[in-house]
Amino acid sequence: MSRRIVIVGGGASGTLVATHLAQQATQALDVLIVEPRPRLGEGVAYSTTDDQHLLNVPASGMSALLDDSQHFARWASVDGDAFVPRRKYADYLRQTLASSVGGNSRVALRHVQLPAQHVSVSPLVVTAGDTDLQADAIVIALGNAAPTCPDWVNRLDASRVVRDPWQLGALDQIADGARVLCIGTGLTFVDVAVTLAGRGCRVTATSRHRLLPTVHAPASAANSTAGASNSTAGALPHSFSTPGDVACWVRNQPDWRAAFAALRPETQRIWRGFGDGGQRQFLRHARRYWDVHRHRMAPEVARLLDDHIARGNVRIQPESAHDLAQSPEFDVVVLCTGPDDTLALTCPPLSSLLAVGQARSGPHAMGIDTDADTGQLLSANGEPVPGVYAIGPMRRGTLWESTAIPEIRSEARRLAALLLV
Ligand SMILES: Cc1cc2nc3c(=O)[nH]c(=O)nc-3n(C[C@H](O)[C@H](O)[C@H](O)COP(=O)(O)OP(=O)(O)OC[C@H]3O[C@@H](n4cnc5c(N)ncnc54)[C@H](O)[C@@H]3O)c2cc1C
Repeated sequence: MSRRIVIVGGGASGTLVATHLAQQATQALDVLIVEPRPRLGEGVAYSTTDDQHLLNVPASGMSALLDDSQHFARWASVDGDAFVPRRKYADYLRQTLASSVGGNSRVALRHVQLPAQHVSVSPLVVTAGDTDLQADAIVIALGNAAPTCPDWVNRLDASRVVRDPWQLGALDQIADGARVLCIGTGLTFVDVAVTLAGRGCRVTATSRHRLLPTVHAPASAANSTAGASNSTAGALPHSFSTPGDVACWVRNQPDWRAAFAALRPETQRIWRGFGDGGQRQFLRHARRYWDVHRHRMAPEVARLLDDHIARGNVRIQPESAHDLAQSPEFDVVVLCTGPDDTLALTCPPLSSLLAVGQARSGPHAMGIDTDADTGQLLSANGEPVPGVYAIGPMRRGTLWESTAIPEIRSEARRLAALLLV
């Protein structure tokens, strides 16, 4: 009889798990992906239809396959340092999944196009619509939650607020030429600003310190540092005791981008090594600075944004968003605050696991708590929950760096190997 693995969520993470299962399976295997969207691989990040929205990682960092770093670049016919439109990445993930399944006759794949409403543990069952899907193992890949919503936004006229700019069609509801206030200045803001400014909107964002995401090195500079990234960043110490030690090490490196590149493969280990106190310290004092240096814009996107700023179509103001949002000066308020990691367990299907003590919030109330090595969910009393695993951004509290493809594909390959034992 086939072993059956049910994956809940068919964005990039769910699709990558299925791909790695198909690549590794040596016995009959049924893979079911429960995903309400019509197309796998898109999820929140890769469902945009705007070609100005580029990947924020160069093509050489976006391969689905760990052993073939140029797999995506070859597929897209670009150099490894190119930044490809995000829309194309979902096509790549789907085609890689299809060819992995097609290349392994033991594997059958089914997309159940429904939202999962319920997950239960003994026995392992995912309920979607009227159907109970029995499983030998369940992988939770529900990804990015809706944006954080400050309390005061709930008191604004709801018709003026776009709560989730990544919902399909959300930005289409904003009239061309509208006066838009964005709350937040991270990468979501950058995408929203280039789309809306391109449609004649006047976009304002607020940031006390006027901090915007930093920019990837242009291709020529990237080429010269990529090969030398190990030499331009000094050797990493064996361990960092505190976030302050990391900041100090980065400051002493001649090239901060190379320093971040050197830290990247070690970030999960460093995060775990901080322990609870150090992690809190990081979140309180260093998170914003980490985010703007680690999550960078493609050079092309930065040029486009600079151009809009120079022409006055986009403004970054130091005033409080709360005060500006009350002003009749703006037609629409768009939440660009980034995912609210505390929401993961509050909505179906995970609320069903929380209700029976088979899941708990991740460290610092971020996402869902998992065993750091296996990804297995941890119950209310910290015991691994048999047969239920999580992958991707929901593991941020446990691993910190678990949101982007370079980490997700490693998690996917490890998890596939574990599930097939
Ligand atoms: C706008 C944006 C741009 C990004 N750009 C990059 C980039 O360029 N490079 C990079 O490496 N990383 C990028 N990231 C990071 C990104 O988080 C990951 O790359 C990856 O897309 C995460 O995929 P995911 O499948 O875990 O989550 P998601 O994309 O959030 O997918 C979760 C899926 O779960 C589904 N779902 C929701 N509820 C249910 C339910 N009840 N039942 C079943 N399914 C359900 C959703 O429909 C969705 O398809 C970006 C993130 C965002 C938000």
